[in-house]
Amino acid sequence: MSDLPASAGFQHAELEWDENGQPQSRQYGDVYFSRVSGIEETSHVFLAQNDLASRFAALQPGERLVIGETGFGTGLNFLCAWQLFERHAPAGARLHFVSVEKHPLTHDDLARALALWPQLDELAQRLLAQYVAVNPGFQQFRLGDGRVSLTLLVGDALECLAKLDARIDAWFLDGFAPAKNPQMWQPELFAQMARLSAPGTTFGTFTSAGFVRRGLGAVGFEVQRVPGWGPKREILRGHFAGQPTTTEKPWYARPSHRPAQRQALVIGAGLAGCASAASLAARGWQVTLLERHAEIAQEGSGNPQGVLYLKLSAHGTALSQLVASGFGYTRRLLQNLQRGRDWDACGVLQLAYDDKETERQAGLAEAFPATLLQPLDRAEAERIAGVALAGGGLFYPDAGWAHPPALCRWMIERPGIELRRHQQPLQLRRENEQWLAFDGERLLAQAPVVVLAGAAEAAQFDQSAWLPLKRIRGQITGLPATERSTALQTVLCAKGYVAPPRDGQHTLGASFNFEQTDPAPSEAEHRSNLEMLQEISPDLYQRLQADTGATTELVGRVAMRCTSPDYLPIIGPLADAPAFAEAYAALAKDARQVPETPCPWLDGLYVNTAHGSRGMITTPLSGELLAAWIDGEPLPLPRAIAEACHPSRFLLRKLIRGS
Ligand code: SAM
Repeated sequence: MSDLPASAGFQHAELEWDENGQPQSRQYGDVYFSRVSGIEETSHVFLAQNDLASRFAALQPGERLVIGETGFGTGLNFLCAWQLFERHAPAGARLHFVSVEKHPLTHDDLARALALWPQLDELAQRLLAQYVAVNPGFQQFRLGDGRVSLTLLVGDALECLAKLDARIDAWFLDGFAPAKNPQMWQPELFAQMARLSAPGTTFGTFTSAGFVRRGLGAVGFEVQRVPGWGPKREILRGHFAGQPTTTEKPWYARPSHRPAQRQALVIGAGLAGCASAASLAARGWQVTLLERHAEIAQEGSGNPQGVLYLKLSAHGTALSQLVASGFGYTRRLLQNLQRGRDWDACGVLQLAYDDKETERQAGLAEAFPATLLQPLDRAEAERIAGVALAGGGLFYPDAGWAHPPALCRWMIERPGIELRRHQQPLQLRRENEQWLAFDGERLLAQAPVVVLAGAAEAAQFDQSAWLPLKRIRGQITGLPATERSTALQTVLCAKGYVAPPRDGQHTLGASFNFEQTDPAPSEAEHRSNLEMLQEISPDLYQRLQADTGATTELVGRVAMRCTSPDYLPIIGPLADAPAFAEAYAALAKDARQVPETPCPWLDGLYVNTAHGSRGMITTPLSGELLAAWIDGEPLPLPRAIAEACHPSRFLLRKLIRGS
């Protein structure tokens, strides 16, 4: 598979609207749904053929049903399935809808298409409110107060499904008529459906084409022809009768441990801990969140303004894919917070401050769609920024800044999460299927599952001491807004950043100090922050009267970033390090073999840390990834990205390199 970002060549759906206001695709020359009645067609072909009403009703609290769809289109099938779920499923059950879409509709087109269905209006409005930053890659949506997850795979069906790690219970095989879209209806599609199915997985499709029937049969589906709806004489339904296959390496396999009670302790109430708690609570878990300080978000997540800075690569690296997906999810969560006070989508302008950066930006502009980033020349950049600049740069219109403590608060203010302050566990012991968290001899709390989320403190337990975490000191400087500085309309980034004011103060940051861990702000770093500001924009520097400010009077804040050696976060289940080294010792001699020995997991122990200075972008989605590992749900990221963030990678590298 190519390592170009999935976004290269990205196009939105191009629609034509007929005299009844119904959409048709210009790219494929086909309709999105039946011209007679889209809703009744959806109901017959997809909902009824998968027996969804009775399957939703049979779900128990804590259980979920996973639907997979080819072709999200206008979201009509999704909304109909969601509505049926709300009508039939008991409290505490969940719906996870995974859909792949090569040409997503724009927000305006989606709104216009969904206006056709007043009976779906309430759910449609909720989807539309979240339908932002729908960029290429895996895009996760949290809907219905977390009871419904939508994982939208933006890209080609064959490529995206090959990256998906999920067990689908019911398939909606949609996606324009095979004659009009032969590229999608390929044997690889059926093979991916089989890979992602389990015995009993069902499907429904509007087509009755012979090659679809034979293709599904060849990969293990039992296929039936049944009467269609309206003008369609026949359609297909069926179920998977083959055996599930797994090709996962044991050190990245999903742990089979499922605790009897859905209870978890999360240690550390910064962004990563709050996100972990939120994603578990949305899945019906009882979460106890332990915070050593008197309040949440007191360390790395405590700065007044965090910038939604996207560190992308034109080469589709793991970090770049994580950032593109993480940005989308954070941006959608922020829709729930108060704009202006808690966050602002004022855009982020990354300045092309030298030749190397200019070249890098040219590569990004080719690789990513204009909905995500746009190259601007100096005049355009100055118009958007509101201040004079030395050159142009790359503008991210949907990005901006957010107040991390507000996001933390929003994530944990919900049923199922109990915050306990002034609690600092120092030891963990496993007894009777429970983890007991002690502070010396005092038992603080216990649960069958524990998530270590306290940045570098995640490595303070015997079980996690091998995690290779580094601390990097960062200092921000707060500059009072002046009448002239409020002209700044967007976040400006070069080697550092400066944001438009929140609460009358601009945040300017942040230094990188690898040597020191002193928690008090230093004058030298205030000075270096001011030098960065001068490089970003001498005009803004003047407007802020930063040249006259004595650095001793400046307010600032120091926090420790926590990073890993490969700068990717560490999210997932923890193995017993000595047992791992023993089980897979053979890899030291031959790194290519894949032993069958199951991974010696520390049952119920998980970690979510090392988000560096990108926490605003990666932590909300990390909660979803962690919950998917813990709860056996579809992963919200491509399998390879989840593995690139997996704790086992370091144990494996140590064995292979012998270091
Ligand atoms: N399920 C949709 C709904 O409820 O509105 C209707 C789907 S429409 C008939 C088909 C969709 O499949 C279109 O949105 C189209 O862009 C998408 N599609 C076509 N070929 C695709 C491919 N190769 N990969 C992913 N999506 C594709």
